[in-house]
Amino acid sequence: MESNVRVRFAPSPTGPLHIGGVRTALYNYLFAKKYNGTFVLRIEDTDQTRYVANAEQYIIDALEWCKIPFDEGPGKNEKFGPYRQSERKELYKEYADKLIETGWAYYCFDSSEALDAERKAHEAEGKTFIYNWHNRAGGTLINSLVLTDEEVQNRINSGENYVIRFKTPQDELLRMEDEIRGNIRIDTNTLDDKILFKGDGMPTYHLANIVDDHLMEISHVIRGEEWLPSMPLHVLLYKAFGWDAPKFAHLPLILKPVGKGKLSKRDGDKLGFPVFPLEYTNDATGDVSRGYKEDGYFSDAFINMLAFLGWNPGTEQELFNLEALIEAFELKRVSKSGAKFNPDKAKWFNQQYMQTKSDDELTDLYLPILKEKGITKDKEFVLKVVSSIKERAVFVHDFWDLSNFFFETPTEYDAKASKKNWKEGTAELMQELITQISSIEDFTSENTEKEIKEWITAKEIGFGKVMQPLRLSLVGKLAGPHLFDIIAMIGKEETIKRLENAIEKL
Ligand code: GLU
Repeated sequence: MESNVRVRFAPSPTGPLHIGGVRTALYNYLFAKKYNGTFVLRIEDTDQTRYVANAEQYIIDALEWCKIPFDEGPGKNEKFGPYRQSERKELYKEYADKLIETGWAYYCFDSSEALDAERKAHEAEGKTFIYNWHNRAGGTLINSLVLTDEEVQNRINSGENYVIRFKTPQDELLRMEDEIRGNIRIDTNTLDDKILFKGDGMPTYHLANIVDDHLMEISHVIRGEEWLPSMPLHVLLYKAFGWDAPKFAHLPLILKPVGKGKLSKRDGDKLGFPVFPLEYTNDATGDVSRGYKEDGYFSDAFINMLAFLGWNPGTEQELFNLEALIEAFELKRVSKSGAKFNPDKAKWFNQQYMQTKSDDELTDLYLPILKEKGITKDKEFVLKVVSSIKERAVFVHDFWDLSNFFFETPTEYDAKASKKNWKEGTAELMQELITQISSIEDFTSENTEKEIKEWITAKEIGFGKVMQPLRLSLVGKLAGPHLFDIIAMIGKEETIKRLENAIEKL
């Protein structure tokens, strides 16, 4: 259906990328890939007061970790470049001038004090001040609609501070269409004349954004709901320039897990989950914010989780790798209403993805953790450990707690479990078990299970009487995988040693 799809992710480098931003990038990426299109990264850094030096690199690193790289952007296939708005600065003035020439924009010379006074006067009458058709000419405001051309030129030449505002058309019913929200109607009389260009030579977001989307041949603008109020101005700007407007799609907000409103960093701090893809250090304050990557999430699990925040395939299926997401993604299945973030669901996704990873891959992730603990077991052994515990793990960093007993003799025993399971006579019974175990020759999981169970049956005692203290002796607590797998893995000598330890300590 779509041809020449070109979409862009256009973040402002004002800090780390929030997961809402990552989701915007993801939906753009999925849409581009679905239609064999191009995914552009454009850095919207015209607001120098909010510029943060390490933010652009953070954005690029985050997209890379998520495996949703851009096709065109800073330093990559720069055919529509440069892709940093600060490097395109000279370009925008020409477009602002064009709008002045065609009567779609005008110069304003109002000082901030004068605008403040105007605002206060409105407030005193219970009104809100907006700069538009109702007061732009004939009132107290000073602009090129009331001054002569000569007066305007003189003011500019003398270095007076000015801005260029859009001249919003009056008495028009603007009909717009959003790919997600459908038809939108707005009365242009409710809009204000937004600033497009500032006297310091910098365009505002609105002008730069429209000019660049046009010059970069963007076909679809897919962005967050917070930009929906800007859509009328953007649509009018396209009209003013005589350009075809791209299609628009405004994505729903990502909401707090509890309560109302947009998900914020504070929610994450309070409830203990990251809101950023990667760890971020604020160079100014030294504050470190946690990231999904560093918290142990697999990037494919993270992406799958994010994809479902605002979109669903219309079936029960929840697990989609990137390829499957590209295949299934459709803008018309993106919801209009906000998506509640669920930190438990994020963990669930990671656990699901854990099961899809090969033992080999997980072992390679576990080996360095073991090495750091001074454990140098061979890979084959660790592979078996991983295979027996991965079902219970959410993160690779859970592995140690789930498997330390494969590598170390327990030094402590769970107090509650010991009290309940290590009773009078247990020590003697374990002593007998040691003798029994010593005589087992084929020390595989199956055979030790068979021989020990036969011995218990012959003794006519409950299984629990032996199995619980045995588990306690080997693991230190009543947890862990199949006991005979542990026995076979640690071997006869170590099994006996651990039983002797327990007899001595419990
Ligand atoms: N620079 C804007 C932002 O930071 C881009 C909005 C848009 O996509 O038009 O989100």
